[in-house]
Amino acid sequence: MRWGGWGDPDRTATLPESVTALLGSALGVERPGQPIPDAASAKLPPSRITELPGADSSAGARLAHLRGKSTPDLLKIRAGDVSAVPDAVARPESHEEVVALLAECGQRGIAVVPFGGGTSVVGGLTPETGKPVLALDLARMDQLIAFDSESRTATFGPGARAPQAEKLLNQRGYTLGHFPQSFEYATIGGFAATRSSGQASAGYGRFDELVVALRAATPTGTIETGRAPRSAAGPDLRQLLLGSEGAFGVITSVTVAIRPVPEVKHYEGWTFEDFAAGTAAMRSLAQDGPQATVLRLSDEFETAIGLSRPGKLGHGAGGCQLILGFEGTAAEVEAKRAAAGDRLRALGGEPLGTEPGEAWAHGRFSAPYLRDALLDAGALVETLETATFWSTIPDLYEAVREAIVDTLVEGGTPPMVLCHVSHTYPAGASLYFTVVCALGENPIEQWDAAKKAASEAIASAGGTITHHHGVGRDHLPWYAAEIGPVGVAALRAVKQAVDPDGILNPGVLIP
Ligand SMILES: Cc1cc2nc3c(=O)[nH]c(=O)nc-3n(C[C@H](O)[C@H](O)[C@H](O)COP(=O)(O)OP(=O)(O)OC[C@H]3O[C@@H](n4cnc5c(N)ncnc54)[C@H](O)[C@@H]3O)c2cc1C
Repeated sequence: MRWGGWGDPDRTATLPESVTALLGSALGVERPGQPIPDAASAKLPPSRITELPGADSSAGARLAHLRGKSTPDLLKIRAGDVSAVPDAVARPESHEEVVALLAECGQRGIAVVPFGGGTSVVGGLTPETGKPVLALDLARMDQLIAFDSESRTATFGPGARAPQAEKLLNQRGYTLGHFPQSFEYATIGGFAATRSSGQASAGYGRFDELVVALRAATPTGTIETGRAPRSAAGPDLRQLLLGSEGAFGVITSVTVAIRPVPEVKHYEGWTFEDFAAGTAAMRSLAQDGPQATVLRLSDEFETAIGLSRPGKLGHGAGGCQLILGFEGTAAEVEAKRAAAGDRLRALGGEPLGTEPGEAWAHGRFSAPYLRDALLDAGALVETLETATFWSTIPDLYEAVREAIVDTLVEGGTPPMVLCHVSHTYPAGASLYFTVVCALGENPIEQWDAAKKAASEAIASAGGTITHHHGVGRDHLPWYAAEIGPVGVAALRAVKQAVDPDGILNPGVLIP
């Protein structure tokens, strides 16, 4: 992973001239951002962890586990702030080693941060604690532990990165179908710990829906869940570990449902006059079928910039663009395409053919690389997401846009606010906002103000504070309000049962 940025260090993005010009003319971007300093120049606080067997307190290891990948995380690195660096890194190879490490850390008062791909965007890797901090990197626990073609399940170690897991399944004729934008780096354990949702969630489901069984090491012992695909043996304890963000235990294996590799993948583009018409069409497909695999609508602003097809940034269009994808056998795909086409036409959609769909599929993991280029150019870019019921979407959409625009205009940096809908359910959908503006004098405070205003707007409009990024530290106040005092007390009671000394990710998830 690129130090201080995103992705493969050998693959950098260059902004098209049209976009650079737009940054100046529309957003008043005048001067470049702070460059990423050389990691070798970082002045680290001395490590407080010594003589922990297997722990690595070298500067390189500590810096590679510094924070996650939100824009504030990256801005802090650009500003030379390495204060949140862990004291050491451990790389266990087995469940038993994790159990032993947790016991030792409990005795010595060391906080433990489970570290998967390090792609958290909500402060999930920066605990709030006075304790020494150990990053527990799960990369060595990356095996395909079991494969059951009859039940169509596969069990992975938590550190298996998504491309590796997908490759191992593909070699056997199967797919997980989980493709979040962080696909290149995020891990199976991280997906479970954050309830991730991928770009093909309409067809394959969210990651939490794919999980059949989980095993976790906690400071008080091992917990195993998922003896059968469904059970009436009390509440489903898998749900305690899904979304637990390292606060209840270290997930050491995950069993997931898998599907045969689809014979055909077909992605196409449609255009709608406006966001209301586009969301109405999505709702129709989500509620009455045919079930799409990928369903993704960009609002007028995202369509105009061309971000709906990151590889073609700067080549925007009017209206609202919808990407519609089907995967399956040739016959299934053909039948669904035809039926969906009739429905979308009847709801005012115009077909754009396969080119937009293929451009989206080709560039689907490239947008995060653009963020580094924008930060270099002097633009602040960050995203936030929520979910709500269909009936609330129009109000929530307007309220969030208005809150972000008003806050940033007041601060002297008018933004572009773009939005897409990319995870749909019969009852509602998730809204994903991208905000771009000129970097202000204090970009961390600038973004904090906008994010706070957006979060208040989400809460007031009745949305959830997060649909798939998780709670981390950034969403804690709104999460506490969302689940209420009884919910908070229940979470704290579980925490007390599994982690009485509070060593697991202190300050993350539990209000
Ligand atoms: C550019 C970019 C694009 C993204 N796109 C998406 C997207 O499309 N969909 C989506 O859902 N998310 C997305 N995310 C968010 C992020 O990728 C997800 O939250 C992902 O699931 C995190 O996986 P990870 O392996 O990187 O976990 P990490 O970032 O390493 O950890 C995330 C949290 O889980 C905990 N954790 C990690 N592994 C374990 C474990 N084995 N046991 C217990 N706790 C653990 C950590 O302590 C931390 O609190 C994106 C992030 C970025 C930077």
